[in-house]
Amino acid sequence: MLVDLHIHTKACGHAEGTIQEYVRVAQAVGLQQMGFSDHFPQYFLPMAHRDPRWAVPTMAGFREYIRAVQELQRETAQPEILIGVEVDYRPGWCERVRSLLRPFPLDYVIGSVHQIGDWAFDILADDEEYSRRDIADIYEEYFHIVCQAATSGLFDIIGHCDLIKKFGYRLPNGLAGHAERFAAACRAGGVAVEINTSGLRYPVQEVFPAQIILSALFAQNVPITFGSDAHRPEDVGRDLELAMHMAREAGYKKIATFRRRRREMVSWHD
Ligand code: ZN
Ligand code: FE
Ligand code: FE
Ligand code: ZN
Repeated sequence: MLVDLHIHTKACGHAEGTIQEYVRVAQAVGLQQMGFSDHFPQYFLPMAHRDPRWAVPTMAGFREYIRAVQELQRETAQPEILIGVEVDYRPGWCERVRSLLRPFPLDYVIGSVHQIGDWAFDILADDEEYSRRDIADIYEEYFHIVCQAATSGLFDIIGHCDLIKKFGYRLPNGLAGHAERFAAACRAGGVAVEINTSGLRYPVQEVFPAQIILSALFAQNVPITFGSDAHRPEDVGRDLELAMHMAREAGYKKIATFRRRRREMVSWHD
């Protein structure tokens, strides 16, 4: 089973290509399952805190995204197409997010942390903030929020769980403590974690999460999925061999997949 559950579309405004082109690449690389997971509109936030550049701008646009993927499902035999979403996790907005998501026929929901307070730490323009703050404090705050996301009950999958390393600012003493706490939170919250290969395309040049986190997740029996975080067709299925190698290295023999938000464990092969 070769799967990629983290794929964007141009509905979010910052990805390119038609969804048919994404499917063609998925077919070429031999995916059995592909899941679209575009950025959910930030409608749960007060107006002043929304940034339409980083998500599908309107709820109408999101309904249109769902409709387009459903149509694609009907016309595609292989791979199986799943309908997902990537939702920004912001502390304090859980109930609002829950009710906004309820009407949609989603197979799974990815929860991702892209901000610490109002700092969008994964956007290059904000990079200098990393040198202004203490790195250990930044990691502490980041993992605190990701652990909250894991136990919020909102999500099926936690996205790129050590995204804070994106620009290569690393913790001098490693991630062991954070890995343990994060894995325990995932177990408690009943979420899966994705191995997201997009980190290889950023300055850190490393898959999300680091191997040490993956091992901690395996030790806590936390399921994993695979995702490329493709924002253009040619990145669909990208570097999944490495993701699978890391998963095997950590001890994994099965991955999680989702239909209508019910988790199923399946074996994968190379
Ligand atoms: Zn995006
Ligand atoms: Fe993300
Ligand atoms: Fe994404
Ligand atoms: Zn992402």
